[in-house]
Order: sequence, then C-alpha cells, then structure tokens
Amino acid sequence: MKLCRFDTDRLGLVLGDEVADVTAVLDDLPGWTWVPPAGDPVIAALDTLRPRIEALAETAPRRSITQMRLDAPVAAPTKVIGAPVNYHDHLEEANTDAGIHHGSIVHPIDTMGCFLKAVSALAGHGAVLELPFADRRVDHEAEIAVVIGRTARRVSAAAALEHVAGYALALDMTVRGTQERSLRKSCDGFAVLGPWLTTADEIAEPGAIPFALTVNGETRQASNTRLLIRSIPELIEMVSAYYTLHPGDVIMTGTPAGVSPVAPGDVVTLTGAGLGRLDVVIG
Ligand code: MN
Repeated sequence: MKLCRFDTDRLGLVLGDEVADVTAVLDDLPGWTWVPPAGDPVIAALDTLRPRIEALAETAPRRSITQMRLDAPVAAPTKVIGAPVNYHDHLEEANTDAGIHHGSIVHPIDTMGCFLKAVSALAGHGAVLELPFADRRVDHEAEIAVVIGRTARRVSAAAALEHVAGYALALDMTVRGTQERSLRKSCDGFAVLGPWLTTADEIAEPGAIPFALTVNGETRQASNTRLLIRSIPELIEMVSAYYTLHPGDVIMTGTPAGVSPVAPGDVVTLTGAGLGRLDVVIG
C-alpha cells in the first residue's frame, strides 16, 4: 500500500496517479481523550486497518495526485531520528568543505551516534520551505526514511525489519554552522517526509534502494542504501538500545555526497525506487 495524508486529517490510498479518500477507516480507530497513546495511531493499527482501506478504496472518491500538496504521511511520531554521516562519500565531502565542517573534524556515525530532529519540523510533498536566516547556508540532504510500525526496544538487527511499517523519501534540511545538529536541523519544514508511505511489503530489499535528488532539474545527489555505513537494521538496533521506538517514529538514514546550498525559488526533487517523487520549493 501507498498511504498519504492530505488536508491535515485525511487519509489517502495512492493508486497510480490518483488518491482514493479512505478517511472513513479512521472511524475504526480506538477513541481516547487525554492522554493519547504514544505514537501514531494509524501506523500502530495499519495491519488491522488494511483490509478496510483496500475495500473502501474501491468506491471512495478519487482525486488526481498531480496537483495535490500532501502532508507528511506520519502525523504523530514521537521522534524523528537523524543518522549523521552514514555514507563514506559524504564524510569525505564534509571534511573538505569548510562550509560544512566549520572548523571541526566531521566523524562518521559510529563515533557520533544519532541525533533527534524536532517533530514540529515535519513537512510534506509540495511544501514551501522558508529559509530561516538570510545569511546562513541551508543545504538539502536527500535520505531514505524508515517508519517504525511496532514498538521496538532493544531490538537486534536480525529482528529489526519486523518492526518496520514502511519507507518514504526524506529531506533532512540543514542550516550549516557550529551549533548542535538538533537545533540546526529542526527549523519549521526541515524534516520533509513523503510523498507517501510505501508499506514494507512493497520494498523487497530496503538495503538496495536507489534514490536521487535534483535542484531545478540538475542532479546533485544519487546513491543507494547499499552504500550506507550502518544499514537500516543496524540503525534500528543502535537507537532502540537507547530508547523505545513507537509506531510512526521516523529514522532518516543519512545522506550521500552532493549536499549543496539552496536559494529562494529553487525546486528540490527527490525520487526513489518504489517511493515516488517528492518536490518542495524553497521560499
Ligand atoms: Mn542527514
């Protein structure tokens, strides 16, 4: 399944170039008041919702996806996790470009561990990303994101993929500078996810997903999850040793070489096998 979110609280099933509005399935979710359970309720219930989503889609109203702006397909993750320097070629470029390293030695993921991006930074396909500072460099970072489907705590790499709901394209937008990553990578709109969630059953080999990023049609990044320093299962093992992963939690797995500054008016486009095409505009 390819699931999208639109108009803030509507759930769609993507069928080719159309979106079937299957929002009615949300009536099947358990009701709650204060305090809601941790994690995203749609992602948590995905397996039980699936048959009705597919049934509803047969008669649901449909819209062409072509001109739609979408929200991030996960509405309520508890965490957006970032993997710093998880491709060797990005390590090399980071240590040779003073605009990236800012006088520090950039270390790979095994030295640094992971970081968190604010959940409030989430944005979706078609978003306009406002640059927060006129005089600071902001880079695109093309990444493959993993969305957790089942609560995961101290999970081994061997069992990690059983805890995955699906995959999506992601942009880990970044203000370059000397501050903590969690600050520089958490500006509003700086955690782009989408255009939809492709469920795990449709991605036969998450360890070999080709993806690419263009700015105004010019290719800047092109890589494959095969080249990750720490693989998707290893990342899940690493972070779940520290904290519980809840349904809907997002892991952005890291960016390959080719990061570069964006400017107002730029159109940034990310594509990935089985994951669709994600566009954002720099405001
Ligand atoms: Mn990144």
